Amino acid sequence: MPELTVKEDENAWWFLLSKGKLVALDKGDLIPFGCISELPFPGDLTNNKRLLGKYQDQPCYLVDLPEPVDVGIGEYVGLRSLLGRIDDLLFDMAGRAFQISLFYKTHQFCGQCGQNMNPIDWEIAMKCYHCQHRAYPRVSPCIIVAIRNKKKILLALHSRHHKDNYPVYTTLAGFTEAGESLEACVEREVFEEVGLKVKNIQYVSSQPWPFPHSLMMGFIADYASGEIIVDPHELVEANWYDIDNLPLVPKHGTIARKLIEKTLKRCR
Ligand SMILES: [Zn+2]
Repeated sequence: MPELTVKEDENAWWFLLSKGKLVALDKGDLIPFGCISELPFPGDLTNNKRLLGKYQDQPCYLVDLPEPVDVGIGEYVGLRSLLGRIDDLLFDMAGRAFQISLFYKTHQFCGQCGQNMNPIDWEIAMKCYHCQHRAYPRVSPCIIVAIRNKKKILLALHSRHHKDNYPVYTTLAGFTEAGESLEACVEREVFEEVGLKVKNIQYVSSQPWPFPHSLMMGFIADYASGEIIVDPHELVEANWYDIDNLPLVPKHGTIARKLIEKTLKRCR
């Protein structure tokens, strides 16, 4: 992707990242927006900008800062704190900024021959000019599935959530393995995590999940057979819940919530 020069009067969205956090304002769209001549950034700050794409027809730039310096605007926050607080597409762009930043950081050397890698200027990729190996940002496909059994939905308490003050019960999810279809992954993950067989597997929609580089592929399915046996490495518990008596579930804006809502509708 070409390294464009920012025009003094060009409005743009600015994704300023440092040490896993980004600069956010406390109002409006939260992501800094404006032309460079009117924003309070120190002049040399945007020298290492990278064009990420466009949001609402305006360019979006990633600026990677080695240290979280005061940029004269907003404060550094974690990406998760923006979830549900900004438009979904703007959140996806913020996620893209994190993923691209991580990609360049983790591909400085060739995985094949160990020489230095260099960015390609017409696409987001790193190339080793010694052995011609080329690398692209990593995206890890991951299935997430809501399972219905007549008027009930399966929800699980994951090990990573069970010490939270308000533990969230959610759908099952897992990474797709090499050589595996998404449908086979749904069947395998469900069987591994709760010992159940499922049927009527249907794709619903997807959501980039930049923690750090997953792509969640959302499915719904129906219970086919088996008794719940939880995998203690992944889950604390999993149960069938009556749709009128649910535990705390993930917040709006997450694909898990979308799949749960869709399953509740199918139960009714
Ligand atoms: Zn190489």
